[in-house]
Amino acid sequence: MALIVQKYGGSSVADAESIKRVAKRIVDTRRAGHDVVVAVSAMGDTTDEMLDLAHEVAPIPAPRELDMLLSSGERISMALLAMAIHSMGFEARSFTGSQAGMITDSHHGKARIVDVTPVRLREALDEGAIVIVAGFQGFNRDTRDITTLGRGGSDTTAVALAAALNADVCEIYSDVDGIYTADPRVIPRARKLEQVSSEEMLELAANGAKVLYIRAVEYARRHGVLIHARSTFSSAEGTYVLGAGMKNPRATEGEAMEEPIVAGVATDLSQAKITVAGVPDVPGKAAEIFKIVSKAGANVDMIVQNVSAASTGRTDISFTLPKADAPTTLKALAAEQSEVGFESLLHDDQIGKLSVVGAGMRTHSGVSEILFEALSAGGINIEMISTSEIRISVVLRGDDLAEAARTVHSAYGLDSEIEAVVHAGTGR
Ligand code: ADP
Ligand code: ASP
Ligand code: MG
Repeated sequence: MALIVQKYGGSSVADAESIKRVAKRIVDTRRAGHDVVVAVSAMGDTTDEMLDLAHEVAPIPAPRELDMLLSSGERISMALLAMAIHSMGFEARSFTGSQAGMITDSHHGKARIVDVTPVRLREALDEGAIVIVAGFQGFNRDTRDITTLGRGGSDTTAVALAAALNADVCEIYSDVDGIYTADPRVIPRARKLEQVSSEEMLELAANGAKVLYIRAVEYARRHGVLIHARSTFSSAEGTYVLGAGMKNPRATEGEAMEEPIVAGVATDLSQAKITVAGVPDVPGKAAEIFKIVSKAGANVDMIVQNVSAASTGRTDISFTLPKADAPTTLKALAAEQSEVGFESLLHDDQIGKLSVVGAGMRTHSGVSEILFEALSAGGINIEMISTSEIRISVVLRGDDLAEAARTVHSAYGLDSEIEAVVHAGTGR
């Protein structure tokens, strides 16, 4: 008998039929003799719809109230799921994040889990119940308020529960069969991976692959939780995310798993680019600019500084950041224009970021050459480049992104013979 944590995403519980399908899956796991703890997301696009509604009543909704609102989505699905399980003759008990002991910091909208005290969950398990926990939410002890963990945060709830309860595996169920070499909605020829290292998954998630939430992958890596990403809509094996020292439970003894050089390609349309033009080319200006940017709360990704024009002694500094952070950042920079002494600000929200990720890059040369040649053959212009030890990213025109991703995916030999299936969801 194992303890299995299962997480069902929004598209898996989008309507009554889907909830019944998920309930059956949970009951089947219970019937096989396992203890089951479930983290569940809000139904379908509920969270997005509530966000839209909040912005209709207030341009900048109060963070505490926004968390109150958004956390209600998961309460609806957890109760419905428990009811569906009851009607199949099994005992199930639902718990909010605070009842489940999800203790977070006080950062509304992006709270971090600081402790998990699943006393009530253990009791329920001991009494033979199936435990259902509302994903994406927690509780701060100082403010005594409800918090949410950031978009996609139900993944973190599941992983944190798996760590606290010492589960054998954390299964993340979604509308695709596992983790692919690229988003199958963008590249239908993407191939499903048997396994991926947690360091590669972190880079993929950080660069737009929302199939797993980055903080969940980080948490799993730190606490040694085995993640199995798989589909609600089929019984096929999915993809194992392996931290250091972890083994793929499906790999047969002695079987050498071939390590591909490139694990996958990620695409991201959520970034914008700001250019601070005509910055005096003297020491200290970059420090001044990025102090303003960081005070505005922006999460900067890539930075490029041009060679200064000898005639003017001025240079341009461009950086990328989440689109949502651009307005406040522009405002903060504009307020300090004369202080810093730059000439103008440019804002570009039509960019796309393409990233190639693979642990094999550490030891193989020529990986970037393939990327640049593929883009050049496709006539696609590169605007910015950045690299890490196991990743190369380029910024392109957003309109070129999907085509560029397909070209690059082929160039690395990642294309599958068959088309990937996306079972549900709107991709929102
Ligand atoms: P859930 O609502 O179940 O949490 P998400 O929508 O957050 O599901 O994540 C699943 C989606 O992630 C897929 O429908 C797919 O479009 C997208 N995705 C992005 N990159 C990848 C990838 N590399 N492999 C699989 N899916 C990916
Ligand atoms: N419902 C939340 C969201 O849409 C959390 C999640 O689904 O993981 O972001
Ligand atoms: Mg998700």
